[in-house]
Order: sequence, then structure tokens, then C-alpha cells
Amino acid sequence: MTIGVAVLGSTGSIGCSTLTVLDRHRDRFRVVALTAYSNAALLREQADRWAPAYVGIVNGAKGEEGKGKGKGTACLVEAATHPDVGIVVNGIVGAAGLEATLAALRAGKRVALANKETLVMAGELVTHAARTGGGEIVPVDSEHSAVLQCLAGRETREVSRLILTASGGPFRTWEPARITQATVDQALQHPTWKMGPKITIDSATLVNKALEVIEAHFLFDLGYPQVEVVVHPQSVVHAFVEFVDGSVLAQLGFPSMELPILYALTHPERVPDHGPRRFDALAAGGGALTFEPISAARFPAYALGRAAGAAGGTAPAAFNAANEVAVQLFLEGRIPFGRIPEIIERVLEGHRGGDARSLDAVLAADADARRRATEAACS
Ligand code: NAD
Ligand code: MG
Repeated sequence: MTIGVAVLGSTGSIGCSTLTVLDRHRDRFRVVALTAYSNAALLREQADRWAPAYVGIVNGAKGEEGKGKGKGTACLVEAATHPDVGIVVNGIVGAAGLEATLAALRAGKRVALANKETLVMAGELVTHAARTGGGEIVPVDSEHSAVLQCLAGRETREVSRLILTASGGPFRTWEPARITQATVDQALQHPTWKMGPKITIDSATLVNKALEVIEAHFLFDLGYPQVEVVVHPQSVVHAFVEFVDGSVLAQLGFPSMELPILYALTHPERVPDHGPRRFDALAAGGGALTFEPISAARFPAYALGRAAGAAGGTAPAAFNAANEVAVQLFLEGRIPFGRIPEIIERVLEGHRGGDARSLDAVLAADADARRRATEAACS
């Protein structure tokens, strides 16, 4: 029997990589549901190829209704809770992925989670939904997949520290003043990973790494002082796990999301695969793997995100929402790069705090932060 998979955000970078992986493993998996935001042409092509029972488009044109077809935001939950689905790959970008994650976990599904924003904005709710609904969250993010692989079933109390790696993005060596004036094209030139635009900008500000620290906190139930980050420009070591006896394990591989996606589908099992380039110790990093600290002067948003994580409650939701607004404005050419951390800072300064165990409170904090970020951008 094959396992039914729903791919949410099937037209994006993670979605397309997921279908590439599934294509190599048709003996184990079948595609039951696909959803996309608005790329109807690619979605149709994928649907023709995979013949899923359900296809949903959030922002589709008229005339796309019919049996097994959904439209509007409701299609995400319909796909995620489809009775034939065992695993939901959530490759949606941003807060839009939250409802489907919660619904899938409550319906007892495995969620292979790339959509880290929803764990950041509602970590308590998402982990609670997994605990009580019978579902499970398996990370797709490469650093968190690396941690999960290093843990290999050991308990969190045997872990003393995680060290996630960051590529440092395109501005790792730029002067801080020059970074504030970086153009959209420059910010979209990621040195090691090919990804969607939002996470590529997050990698240039290092907001992505702050999101990942918060993601690790919730996934592995570790305190913030236990989650460190080092810059590793070659992106070959994805994370280190230090255990209480001082032993350190790391997971390595050439940068490709196909391995973490496959692992999220098969965890805790490993299956033979012939996808991305095999590891070669002599070729890795051109012969040298290097590590350096994060430059606070270049990447002010990283510390803001860590602080929001440590503050807890609805602060991470506010951080995430402010960033989503600022990144969108930057991509539209409406604010300079240097305003992204400024807007986040302004929003966090004015954030009143709140309990993040109710969905209404989280959504209110998200909406309030979006409103204040837009205001801050205009002033
Ligand atoms: P992307 O922009 O390439 O794709 C996003 C997908 O989400 C598209 O299919 C789009 O149709 C869909 N989508 C966008 N807005 C939506 C909405 N409002 N409602 C429903 N669907 C919507 O992004 P990506 O790079 O694939 O990233 C997706 C998620 O995975 C992000 O959370 C990102 O942080 C995470 N992630 C990506 C990578 C990577 O290599 N691309 C690595 C780690 C984590
Ligand atoms: Mg990552």
C-alpha cells in the first residue's frame, strides 16, 4: 500500500522539489492532493501528471470548480484533511499555512513542515495540536532535519546544545552601510540555495535564522540559550547536536532540499535514493569548511527575532508578521533593504504582548503587527 500525500504549495520551490522526490518513490507514495495560490497553468500540468483526487487553488479564475476541485482558502484545509492523505507536505509560504497545519495535525496526519512561519507564530498551538490530535510534525527545514537525524530518537534531556548553521546569505562580507542600500536583485542572489523569494530575502537579512531558532525551540522543546547559530558559508554541515556528555554529532550533505524532504516523508526509516549529488569530503566546500560568528552590525534583525522568541507569548507572531509585511514591501520596490529591520524593531517596540495559547490572540497579534508595520513603512 502506498501512502497518500498532500502537497500544499505544490507550485513553489519546496512543492516542486517534493514532486521530484515523490516521482522517484512512486512505490511508496502517491499524490492525493495538490494546492497552489495562483499559478493555475503549472498546477494543471502537475494535476495532469499525478491525477490527484483533489486539486485546490486559492486565487483561481472562474470555471475551475468541479468534483475534486477546490477554490479559496478553504481548499487548504480540505486538501490537508482529505481522508486518503497520510502525510501533508506544507510548502506554503508565510502565515497562510497555519490553518492547514493545525487541521492536519488535529486530523492525525504527519505534517512534513517547510512552512516554518506557522510554527513561529503559533508554536504553542501547533505543538499542542500535534500532541492532542494524534498527528506529528516532521521538519523539512534542512537544519531541523539535520537535528532530527542527529538525535536519532535520543531524548531532549540528553541534549545540551544545538548549533544551527547559516550560509550568511549574499551580504555576509558587505559593509553594513552598503547592505542597507542593497537592491532586490542583489538580495535575491543567494550563494548556496535556490528558493522562493520570501525565504531568499529572509536569508539575506538573517531573519530566516531567527525564525529557525524559534522553530527549533518549539520542535525540540529546548530553551533559547541552548539554540546557537554559526555562519558556515559552504552550507555543507546543516546542524550540530551537542549531547550532555560533550559528544557532538553533525549531519552533512551538499545543499539540496530533496534529502530533508525525503527524510520527512520516511522518518525514522531511511530509504535508498538516487537524487542529489552524493557527498564527497574532498570536494566539500572546495576543500575547506569554515565557521564564523554572526555579525550583529550587518544583521540587526537576527537579534530582534531571538529577543522576540525569548519574550515568548505573541511576540514571535508579531516578529513574523512585521517581517512578512516588510519583505513584501521591499520586493515591491517600495522600501530600501535597510528598512526591513527598522520596521520589525518598531513593531516589536510597540507590541503589547499576550498569551499565544489561543488562536484568536495569535491572529489578533498578527493582524495588529501587520497594520503597525504598514504604518511604520509609510512614516
Ligand atoms: P515559494 O514562494 O517558492 O512557494 C510558495 C508556495 O506557496 C507556492 O506554491 C504558492 O502557490 C503557495 N502560496 C503562496 N501564498 C499562498 C497563500 N496565501 N495561500 C496558499 N498558498 C500560497 O516558497 P518556497 O521557497 O517553496 O518556501 C515555502 C516554505 O518553505 C516557506 O515557509 C519557506 O520558509 C520554507 N522553506 C523553503 C526552503 C527552500 O529551499 N525553498 C527551505 C527551507 C524552508
Ligand atoms: Mg533552513
